[in-house]
Amino acid sequence: MRGKILVVEDEPRLAALLRDYLHKEGYEAHCLKDGLEVAPWVCEQAPDLILLDLMLPGRDGLEICKEIRSFSGIPIIMVTARVEEIDRLLGLELGADDYICKPFSPREVMARIKAVLRRASGQKSPGMCGLVLDKDRYKAILHDRELYLTAVEFQLLQILASHPGRIFSRRQLMDRIYPDQRIVSDRTIDSHVKKLRRKIAVAAPGENWVHSVYSVGYKFEMP
Ligand code: CA
Repeated sequence: MRGKILVVEDEPRLAALLRDYLHKEGYEAHCLKDGLEVAPWVCEQAPDLILLDLMLPGRDGLEICKEIRSFSGIPIIMVTARVEEIDRLLGLELGADDYICKPFSPREVMARIKAVLRRASGQKSPGMCGLVLDKDRYKAILHDRELYLTAVEFQLLQILASHPGRIFSRRQLMDRIYPDQRIVSDRTIDSHVKKLRRKIAVAAPGENWVHSVYSVGYKFEMP
């Protein structure tokens, strides 16, 4: 399989057509028609790209795009029924990777999908022992698998990884992540670190990247 594509489209015939084309091209394709299902599905299934229709029941494409960008830099192609809409969408700076207008030919969609995937994989810079941090998109990739970190988890990893071996206290981490001096307890950092480690463990079972230093804080070390 060349990749897992999520098609969010409420017109059943169009969704089926796209799915068949994607299959023919060697992609794994899944279709969702209800906007409310998208974010939970993306969290759980970690697709490689989303083809996202703008007008949907439940929640529209704009909201979905914003929501997904709050936790992931996964490539998104927005689909709209009106060409004049694209200018407005661009102005909103949603963070989508490309825009496509209906009606389109499946061949055109395939070309766009391939281009966006190619671009996305080109952005990965060589990292530390298989860990790549894409700061612009808050995207962390470990051994070619995206970790799907929240913004806070990404910042934690980035701060720790910026000085491998150096111990950061919880207070130092909190000050860097919450510069507005918001009151957060030590437990908040602990719980974010716990989630971060769980995601790392899924991508790299048995590898310990984030170490806790008893009663002091945390440090990053390459396994
Ligand atoms: Ca629609």
